Amino acid sequence: MKTSVIGYPRIGSLRELKFAEEAYFRNEISETELRQTAGTLRRAHWQSQKDALIDYIPCNDFSFYDTVLDTAVLFNVIPARYKALGLSVLDTYFSMARGYQGSNGDVRALAMKKWFNTNYHYIVPEIDDDTTIQLTGTKPLDDYLEARKAGINAKVVITGAYTFLKLARYTGQYSAEHYAGDLINAYIELIGKCSGAGVSWIQFDEPFLVHDMNDADIKLFSRIYDSILANKQNCNILLQTYFGDIRDIYSKAVTMPFDGIGIDFAEGRQSLSLVEKYGFPSDKLLFAGLVNGKNIWKNHYAVTLDTLTLLKKLTGDNNNIVLGTSCSLQHVPYTLANESILGHEYTSHFAFAVEKLDELRELKVLADLDSYNDIPEYAANCELFANGRNCGNEAVAKRLTEVTDNEYTRLPKRAERLKIQKDTFRLPVLPTTTIGSFPQTKAVKANRSAYKKGRISKEEYVAFNRSKIAECVRLQEDIGLDVLVHGEYERNDMVEYFGECLNGFLFTEKAWVQSYGTRCVKPPVIWGDISREKPMTVDWSVYAQSLTCKPMKGMLTGPVTILNWSFPREDISLKDSTMQIALAIRDEVLDLEANGIRIIQIDEAALREKLPLRKSDWYDDYLDWAIPAFRLVHSGVKPDTQIHTHMCYSEFTDIIPAIEAMDADVITFEASRSDLQILDALKADNFQTEVGPGVYDIHSPRIPSVEEIKAAVNKMLTKIDSDKLWINPDCGLKTRGEYETKASLINLVEAARQLRNEL
Ligand code: GLN
Ligand code: ZN
Repeated sequence: MKTSVIGYPRIGSLRELKFAEEAYFRNEISETELRQTAGTLRRAHWQSQKDALIDYIPCNDFSFYDTVLDTAVLFNVIPARYKALGLSVLDTYFSMARGYQGSNGDVRALAMKKWFNTNYHYIVPEIDDDTTIQLTGTKPLDDYLEARKAGINAKVVITGAYTFLKLARYTGQYSAEHYAGDLINAYIELIGKCSGAGVSWIQFDEPFLVHDMNDADIKLFSRIYDSILANKQNCNILLQTYFGDIRDIYSKAVTMPFDGIGIDFAEGRQSLSLVEKYGFPSDKLLFAGLVNGKNIWKNHYAVTLDTLTLLKKLTGDNNNIVLGTSCSLQHVPYTLANESILGHEYTSHFAFAVEKLDELRELKVLADLDSYNDIPEYAANCELFANGRNCGNEAVAKRLTEVTDNEYTRLPKRAERLKIQKDTFRLPVLPTTTIGSFPQTKAVKANRSAYKKGRISKEEYVAFNRSKIAECVRLQEDIGLDVLVHGEYERNDMVEYFGECLNGFLFTEKAWVQSYGTRCVKPPVIWGDISREKPMTVDWSVYAQSLTCKPMKGMLTGPVTILNWSFPREDISLKDSTMQIALAIRDEVLDLEANGIRIIQIDEAALREKLPLRKSDWYDDYLDWAIPAFRLVHSGVKPDTQIHTHMCYSEFTDIIPAIEAMDADVITFEASRSDLQILDALKADNFQTEVGPGVYDIHSPRIPSVEEIKAAVNKMLTKIDSDKLWINPDCGLKTRGEYETKASLINLVEAARQLRNEL
């Protein structure tokens, strides 16, 4: 049995890449130094895989920011405004990823979107009428040659042409089909170079194939791969899919001359039945994704080996199965070796990237044996699963069964509530607010870390945060914002914070996962039933409110987001886990209200994240419980308590009824990076919730001008009534510096002031 890894985390086990890049951005290290760090990481990652005897080790899965952006740059999909900056190759690349503001010009970053159903974000390639697609880069080859120097004949990984064309944004007059010809040629040229360099396998990542496909999609796919496969020279071509099954293209793909096809048996609900129904030809390799690349749970060897046996039988015992990960391991943390606090009773159930490599190493041996029952590795794995986990809480389970139907509905209806709230708050038209967090400076992080490590007392910790809150309130009052926030200084992360306050979660020390570019998150693990012991945010919010007459927004994270940004259990349904969290957050909402907090924001930043990739599954599998879970959180409040929610990214045009059914009073969301495309969907007749489409991009350090903000708001006002519109940045400010935050918010408030006069 051979083994394959689709992709490996690149940020470094201790986030070395992040820190090197940030130092480079601050001009503290040179490009050469940054490249050295990157090379060291790549070699370390290859070595771990070599040590685990992986047969198909990926290269070019490394990236300074994002591999889709790498692919765009490789094929010259670089909009003119970035080229015009006249920066170095690397800095041009970073300007596309992060925007640029400096002596060479002022441009915004490209759009960024969620990578399928994960919490990773890719940079959206932008193709316009001036784009000439051609092979202009060498990165895949450079990486391949570097791997070979390290003694590895690596598999070259690259975003496939179909997925690339599907993910790109077309700002000119043409669509994907128009560019397919040039793109195919560019890929063929790349294959030629790979072939010349001795590459034996190229893995084309085509996750987009797990979506619903129509005839035009199938035609496009065939056009691409008929050409590519006719020109593969000495390379073997692996069609790699993941994040689901490929039911619309499977029967066709297996008849095409691919040398390997990668199928996801973890998330692909129909993968097995597709193999059963259509078979799998003996002339190609089936890369069977059986070691889950998304979860952190140990692989259940008995189940995996049974599936392998079945697959072997279905494929006619041709020895053409390769055991692999279900997707890139970039979605799991690096290694359990960095975890010193969690007890063995927990960690024995976990496998991060390095441990998943161990699983592949062990399974590879077991899969070739006729009988493995007595093999210690197998026996140990069986025992682990036979013993189960100690994670239940009867009271929680009972409370969930007692929830009544009317607890999912807030009364009176929104239209009536909004009237009451207008009277209560008497906010100006176009009220200004922020999304919650303020810059997490070194001092803020140091305070939390000192407290966590026991170096300062609780009193000292609280006193520091209170001083920051006071500073933040003063700043917002000085700037003239209307609805204030406390700044979230106590929070490392909007999910981790709540996880730490709730029972049922486990925390890691170093289990970082890349979210976008240099940003990583450390998702908690949902280990057991969730409950709240005591209020989690009330003291901070009440203190902040005591400092101002303006309304102070309470700030919570919603149940769906907490679930989606955690590693979930697999022994109970996602729905049940979410409802448990919803009940805990509901208690917090009611406590905030009882303590005088009259506006409460419940962030559902990640609501869309776990939306099934196939539209047909959206409601049944997800929205039909996710939206009620949100309503359960806030349905108990009084009519004059205003409920806000916030969602990152604006891609909810297609689920507008579901968003409306969350029944919040106000929703803020990102819109600035997607050119306000969402606005049409928010016209009054189909959307009553008040809205705050972010007026500037906080993912970039550039300061928006008053004019720019006014232009954005004026555009909004063409679609949205002024009495329904809020003015706010597009997300929390925690990753920003203090200087740019203040300057940007001053411009935001000034823009609102001028606009009010112009109404
Ligand atoms: N309230 C959170 C913050 O401001 C929201 C963050 C998010 O949407 N990702 O940081
Ligand atoms: Zn956000």
